[in-house]
Amino acid sequence: MLIVQKYGGTSVGDCERIQNVAKRVVESKEKGNSLVVVVSAMSGETDKLLGYTKFFSRLPKEREVDMVLSAGERVTSALLAIALEEMGYKAISLSGRAAGIVTDTSHTKARIEEIDTTYLNELLAKDYIVVVAGFQGVTEKGEVTTLGRGGSDLSAVALAGALQADLCEIYTDVDGVYTTDPRIEPKAKKIDKISYDEMLELASMGAKVLLNRSVEMAKKLNVNLVTRSSFNYNEGTLITKEEEIMEHPIVSGIALDKNQARVSICNVEDRPGIAAEIFGALSEANINVDMIVQTIGRDGKTDLDFTIPEVELENTKRVLKAFEGSVESIDYDSDIAKVSIVGVGMKSHSGVAARAFQALAEDNINIMMISTSEIKISMVIRLKYAELAIRTLHSVYQLEK
Ligand code: ASP
Ligand code: MG
Repeated sequence: MLIVQKYGGTSVGDCERIQNVAKRVVESKEKGNSLVVVVSAMSGETDKLLGYTKFFSRLPKEREVDMVLSAGERVTSALLAIALEEMGYKAISLSGRAAGIVTDTSHTKARIEEIDTTYLNELLAKDYIVVVAGFQGVTEKGEVTTLGRGGSDLSAVALAGALQADLCEIYTDVDGVYTTDPRIEPKAKKIDKISYDEMLELASMGAKVLLNRSVEMAKKLNVNLVTRSSFNYNEGTLITKEEEIMEHPIVSGIALDKNQARVSICNVEDRPGIAAEIFGALSEANINVDMIVQTIGRDGKTDLDFTIPEVELENTKRVLKAFEGSVESIDYDSDIAKVSIVGVGMKSHSGVAARAFQALAEDNINIMMISTSEIKISMVIRLKYAELAIRTLHSVYQLEK
């Protein structure tokens, strides 16, 4: 098999850990696999490098920042290659450029445009273990770029896609994706297999294993992703196409997002174009609106409720100032949490939502907002009930089994 492995910052956090990674790479090599290994910088290194740039300037040029930041991943890639050679294996480290990763020109948040795999394939054909510095590429002109924080995952997924690898393994310090946050519900179980879409819903709400951008890319490029720990030999979680998974539980996981705020606009004029005006203004300010609920109009007026990321609260207040004159009131409430039940199995089962509402009612938890999609039911509740709600729902759908 051709496997792309990616090791995150904690997995390559110091020389001993890099040595341990080398051991794991060799184990996979000994099974007869061809390997491309993508590495992050040592944990904390990227922040340290960023700190250096801030010593000289409050606003350093982004192209210079990229030159500095990309160094962190180069260090670990070369160290790993040295360790592998020392163990008697053919290994070579490549910068983003040498690996053929071409990006657009948006420094510090570049997007990968294409990967020229000629050299990579040559090296693989010669039986090299190819170690690629993650998080970076070059523009067409050859300027060094980085892909945004956490971007090494993207390097790995993009390489797996371009090389049509059989598997892309993402090694971190957690065992995989859980049915819910194990710190809240110790009975949470690791999920063996999950679809891209479910993963996107769970991740966007705080299952911090993978960047959403990486999962989206994996979905687009049809890359089978496994996330697992480099500190033990547990199986990890496979993230793949829905059709690849034989048995879908009705509910796969419960997600929690504590970082939302609710906006309630009371007595908006009920006429065509009003939603476009309000949400247009918010989107222009780059505010990501979620869970929009509009009540039935009465006397030419209606109410609009929606959620926004809590960090956008001040920004939102600023934007909505323009509407204050034409509505009765605008209220903001950040003392809320969004709890979501996620599962593709919901598509073919009824009564999933009713059970959730019943369970929360028995706990005396008031549901302030509800929104649903094909594979998700989200509810806004008071923040202080969030953890209780998670535990209740986890047991209602028997996710501990
Ligand atoms: N080293 C980079 C960061 O800390 C990229 C990564 O680790 O994925 O954001
Ligand atoms: Mg990371």
